[in-house]
Amino acid sequence: MTDKDDRLIEKALSELTEKRLRHTSGVMKTALYLADLYGGDKGKVKVAAACHDIFRGRSVDEINYYVNKYGIPDRYLGNANLAHGKIAAKYMEECGVTDEDVLNAVSFHTTGRAGMSLLEKIIFLADTIEPGRDYPGVDELRGIAERDLDAACIRALENSIAFVRSKGETLDPDTEEALEYLKSTIQSRKEV
Ligand code: FE
Ligand code: FE
Repeated sequence: MTDKDDRLIEKALSELTEKRLRHTSGVMKTALYLADLYGGDKGKVKVAAACHDIFRGRSVDEINYYVNKYGIPDRYLGNANLAHGKIAAKYMEECGVTDEDVLNAVSFHTTGRAGMSLLEKIIFLADTIEPGRDYPGVDELRGIAERDLDAACIRALENSIAFVRSKGETLDPDTEEALEYLKSTIQSRKEV
């Protein structure tokens, strides 16, 4: 990790509200733990975790401003839920982050995507199981995460799809593609 990464982490953390700082610290801690278990790059984990939610909680007007500013597809207009990671990744790029894997981990932390990397899985999962999360099944999911990263991502994606559907919100196609992809990965693992 470079000094620049350290400065970015410090800046990102200093701008969070107390509630979001608690969540982000939980994501960092959980992601570092998963990186230990599965051999992830801890420097990358720290940068991605610290920055993943820096645009969470912005007004729709602000979200739309950044979606336009950064040339993010129009389907993210008005959708803070799905857009905040995309915007954060573009902002990080502007701050000099060039590591594609780190940028993708932030960009896809809410949705996952087909072909997600180890780092992307770690950040995606840490976001939904950090110690501050409390929903039915979260403890079981924490247990799965310690044994099988892909199986845990599958469960988390299924949860997310059910949640989005129950709220009648827009499901990002990346989420369904991520689920299909991981299911076929697990299938081919069994066939070996
Ligand atoms: Fe987020
Ligand atoms: Fe988050």
